[in-house]
Amino acid sequence: MSLLVVGTMAFDAIETPFGKSDRIIGGAATYIALSASNFITPIKQISIVGGDFPQAELDFLASRGVELEGVEVKKDQKSFFWSGKYHLDMNERDTLDTQLNVLADFKPVVPESYQDCEFVMLGNLVPAIQHSVLKQMKTRPKLVVMDTMNFWMETAMPDLKEVLKHVDVLLINDSEARQLSAEYSLVKAAKAILKMGPKYLVVKKGEHGALLFHGDQVFVAPALPLEDIFDPTGAGDTFAGGFMGHISRTKDISFNNMKTAIIVGSAMASFCVEKFGTTRLKEISKEQINDRIQQFVELVNFDISLV
Ligand code: AMP
Repeated sequence: MSLLVVGTMAFDAIETPFGKSDRIIGGAATYIALSASNFITPIKQISIVGGDFPQAELDFLASRGVELEGVEVKKDQKSFFWSGKYHLDMNERDTLDTQLNVLADFKPVVPESYQDCEFVMLGNLVPAIQHSVLKQMKTRPKLVVMDTMNFWMETAMPDLKEVLKHVDVLLINDSEARQLSAEYSLVKAAKAILKMGPKYLVVKKGEHGALLFHGDQVFVAPALPLEDIFDPTGAGDTFAGGFMGHISRTKDISFNNMKTAIIVGSAMASFCVEKFGTTRLKEISKEQINDRIQQFVELVNFDISLV
């Protein structure tokens, strides 16, 4: 049983207070797959790229156990392109440019060999495309997790609300949760969003960690205090990859296991931000991942004797 991932595979141009990159490899599905493949393989990827997407990147993903039968290559077109700029407070970023290119008329077809996937990660993408992938699954997956962003709230809110009715977990950041619910308090925002379809909501708060909401229950995961943060791009997707990688490896969709999954997601995201783009994710070892998860355990562990 494996994990199906759908999302963008892209070129990004990023500017942070610490440097600037030219067109480098990015995309939600790229980060998700790189992160999740540390926990489960195969990953069955659905995406679309242009002829400009390097074969070496596809080969690298394949070497990590990512199946690419569902990745369409449009040789005569350009890959999705996104450009963003971070400020000193790196929880805030401006999108400078979004060029849909191949994504503009992407009609994904779920290959027959992907139908056995019990876990589905709908990475950040056109909501109607996320929905179309879900509709093509002949058996309802055990868990469907979805990510989205402000861009789609502004350009495709009705479609986004429709797909939300069919997912189990929504993963978004705090400003997106506020935008989606029109509530400032994250507790009120969670209540409103949990009425839109998902049974679980994960609110990512960048360097302030993440919150997991389910019914009246809340769990908080910290972010690791890091000395250097170079580039937060892809941190949310890397988080999603760690979260879904852990859940699909353990096949346990309980609230308790989701708590562990958001710690695993936070640990993976903490690697992502240490270097530009996907660089750090490509070099980390299983041992480093385990060490970092252990650091999280120590970070939140304390004793108290109540009087
Ligand atoms: P994150 O920092 O985790 O929110 O994700 C950053 C990644 O999302 C980048 O690598 C971009 O290529 C990708 N991305 C940016 N805008 C969009 C969009 N509107 N739809 C899908 N993917 C996007």
